[in-house]
Amino acid sequence: MEFAFDAREDSLRREVQAFIAEELTAAIREDIDAGELGVQFGPIATAFFDKVRARGWTGVSWPVEYGGQGRTAMDQFIIEEEFGRAGLRIGGAGTGAPAILASGTEEQKRAFVPGCIRGDIIFAQGYSEPGCGTDLAGIQCRATRVGDTYVIRGQKTFMTSAHVATHIFLMVRTDPASRRHAGLSILLVPIDAAGITIRPLWTIQNDPVAPRGTTYGENRTNEVFFDDVVVPASCLLGEEGDGWNVAQRGLSIDRVGARRYLMSVLRDEDIVNWLKKDEAPNRALRADPVVRDKVAELWIEGQVCRLLTMRSMTIARRGGDFVHEASAEKVFAPEHGVRATEAIGQILGPHAQLLSSSPEAVEEGVFAHNLLGAFQSTINHGSVQVMRDQIARKGLGLPRPGKRGETV
Ligand SMILES: Cc1cc2nc3c(=O)[nH]c(=O)nc-3n(C[C@H](O)[C@H](O)[C@H](O)COP(=O)(O)OP(=O)(O)OC[C@H]3O[C@@H](n4cnc5c(N)ncnc54)[C@H](O)[C@@H]3O)c2cc1C
Repeated sequence: MEFAFDAREDSLRREVQAFIAEELTAAIREDIDAGELGVQFGPIATAFFDKVRARGWTGVSWPVEYGGQGRTAMDQFIIEEEFGRAGLRIGGAGTGAPAILASGTEEQKRAFVPGCIRGDIIFAQGYSEPGCGTDLAGIQCRATRVGDTYVIRGQKTFMTSAHVATHIFLMVRTDPASRRHAGLSILLVPIDAAGITIRPLWTIQNDPVAPRGTTYGENRTNEVFFDDVVVPASCLLGEEGDGWNVAQRGLSIDRVGARRYLMSVLRDEDIVNWLKKDEAPNRALRADPVVRDKVAELWIEGQVCRLLTMRSMTIARRGGDFVHEASAEKVFAPEHGVRATEAIGQILGPHAQLLSSSPEAVEEGVFAHNLLGAFQSTINHGSVQVMRDQIARKGLGLPRPGKRGETV
């Protein structure tokens, strides 16, 4: 096992750090903050991202023929990690593109993947419905084949970024007689198709609106309604009825990376940076041995989060699959986020629990919103309960309760 990065990777990290220190000015940050979800930037931020692209730091590990750089996943990790620490999302190609690369026709790959890397095409993920989130086998949203088209009718919920997306990566039931995961299909639906209605759905940490610097801070989710939306049959990704497998295949390329673990670990850095500020209350707190003990403990856990991510990447680099290893990450990192944000609340005291709407809030409420966001992150993208079950079954080989003669 090799824990260190090699000389070339260290040099890449230094290059990225120097670029960020030199180029990411306060004016650019302001312009980025005025946009939303990494899109809709003003001219100054656009020029900055053009420079990032010119360095080959977007779509890093993606195939050259589809607009990527064809470099290693480790290069992508380093670039993502440095930009992530600076509060920016750069490196991969986001939702949708991995599945299109794995299951799309040549035409679909050329139509979507380069745009995803450039950021011109943004997919919102349309899986969850009011009656099903964890268990997508209950999907009711229907798409009926009519000639060369599909007609979609139904509702999705909690759809992050639908309000800024160009397309929806939509999971629908194409076979009305099917049960559970059979009979599901994936459609790549343009967001401006007639009959789509998008309504905001604010989740716990965004009500009142979270300040900048909050975990998932700028993300609003949405309810999305489909009233006989007609799309060409060429929107189908993979085979009709094979949507479950198509979606699973798409998870691999960008499934692990620096962005996910940083989401949970950046909170530790927030409290350390806050304690380092040279102001009287901070000086008193950082002298307290209990506080010093706690932040050291959080740092150690943060290192574990990073190493779990790197383990999955190493497995992938050797051509292996990392199902339960990724589940372990998805349990440990969000729960670390909860432990960290709770500890921060205890260190900073009651004012750190006030939300952005209160004038008394510490740092505009960022710590309180992060606490709520951390709890939320234990549910979305696969809840920690379900991840634990996957570890028990796929990692430890325990049978499913109630199956194969097991009693509960
Ligand atoms: C901020 C945010 C953004 C989101 N973005 C998107 C998005 O972009 N696209 C999208 O499609 N969805 C999105 N979701 C939805 C998310 O994927 C679901 O909330 C999640 O899958 C849980 O589903 P649910 O809300 O229906 O809860 P439920 O499925 O009802 O689960 C509630 C609780 O019960 C537990 N539970 C359920 N079944 C089991 C089981 N078999 N064993 C043990 N425990 C179980 C869960 O772990 C959870 O703790 C988002 C959610 C949030 C909060």
